[in-house]
Amino acid sequence: MSRGTEYPIVIVGTGFAGYTVARELRRRDRNVGLLMLSCDDGNQYSKPMLSNAFAQKMSPAQLAGTPREQMAKRLNAEIEPNLSVEWIDPVAHSLYLSEGGQIGYGKLVLAVGAQARVPQFGGNAVSRVLSVNSLSEYETLLAALDGASKVAIIGAGLVGCELANDLLAGGYSVDLLDVSMRMLDRFLPPEAADTVTQALVAEGVQWHPGAIIESIDTAESDGRQLVITGDNGLRIVCDVVIAAIGLIPQTVRAEPPLQINRGIVVDRYLQTSAPDIYAIGDCAEMEGSVLPFLEPVQHGARALAATLTGVATPVHYPPMPIDVKTPAHPVRVVLPPVGTRGGWQMQNSDSKGVYAIFVEEGGAMAGYALSGDQVSRESELTSVFEARMSA
Ligand SMILES: Cc1cc2nc3c(=O)[nH]c(=O)nc-3n(C[C@H](O)[C@H](O)[C@H](O)COP(=O)(O)OP(=O)(O)OC[C@H]3O[C@@H](n4cnc5c(N)ncnc54)[C@H](O)[C@@H]3O)c2cc1C
Repeated sequence: MSRGTEYPIVIVGTGFAGYTVARELRRRDRNVGLLMLSCDDGNQYSKPMLSNAFAQKMSPAQLAGTPREQMAKRLNAEIEPNLSVEWIDPVAHSLYLSEGGQIGYGKLVLAVGAQARVPQFGGNAVSRVLSVNSLSEYETLLAALDGASKVAIIGAGLVGCELANDLLAGGYSVDLLDVSMRMLDRFLPPEAADTVTQALVAEGVQWHPGAIIESIDTAESDGRQLVITGDNGLRIVCDVVIAAIGLIPQTVRAEPPLQINRGIVVDRYLQTSAPDIYAIGDCAEMEGSVLPFLEPVQHGARALAATLTGVATPVHYPPMPIDVKTPAHPVRVVLPPVGTRGGWQMQNSDSKGVYAIFVEEGGAMAGYALSGDQVSRESELTSVFEARMSA
């Protein structure tokens, strides 16, 4: 790559969002000059597999998808790995790399993802707390699990519950801690969260609801093990601690600055506050929501590719179900848009599963939750939901 060159389109990030935008772009235009930059190795892989691969002890090589050279050929793009965008000059349409060098762009897509939230506890071993939000973090965790038997997971959200189920299946003893009283508490109505909690406990998870952690230290006995200490006498000795306490959208400095709230603020066209700069994926915030899932990216990338090729197209999201990969008790949920006023109404609830719908104040259905054996209602419910949404 000759630095200082101008590219019609530059995509920063080679995760799911970056590669999906590039694919959609190529469906519309085979030839427009495209540069992709990434601060990682640029190889394509499936991130959702990272929470289901420990049981089978899959190596990073087994999880690796398509090497960047092949992606470059397929996408007719230049892909430059191990380069980090330090700042952007939106007026001059230039970006500057931490490694030195400047690149001009016609249109710029930020697909820079998010970082795992780092826990803010006391103790001398907080730096040994691991997370799993990239293939390199998976590799580090896999190495830490080698020879380990007892794992503690902080955070019983989607990733925490998936990891707990997977590590149990891999033969590890698992302690799961959360400040909430139920697993998946932020996603599900209480009845459904209860069934997930009961199922994972029955599977063998040692569950610590309402856990207020104070510190994480190395065990005095051998220095290899870790001790989690909290209020109400909480004390867990384990080999590995994983934090699954959420994500912080990644941002990029710009002068003048882009509008940043929780993430990089975009409108329905995925455009940031600066002309010709767009953002998509885990880094982007639209109408107050960051949607850190694959499906919003697929819809967004189609609209953005049209916009990038001259047909300004807003994104419209259909109902987007989220599947929680907990084989002990599967879950499928369509969350109501952030800020929707209303409440969950139970349609069917017993210890084997829950079927609930979220009803807006005006009476319209705005979401649903299925757990356990009720997940089989999925196709029936999807059509009911779509019909009600379009009514
Ligand atoms: C364990 C796990 C399980 C999941 N399971 C599911 C699931 O079942 N279903 C689902 O829908 N979603 C799931 N998700 C979420 C989904 O995987 C993510 O929403 C999606 O992969 C995010 O893609 P992204 O491209 O926005 O971000 P990333 O994949 O994080 O990509 C960001 C890219 O930007 C690059 N970058 C960052 N900063 C810079 C910079 N300054 N300069 C240059 N490059 C930069 C990075 O190197 C990287 O290439 C899961 C996530 C995790 C962690």
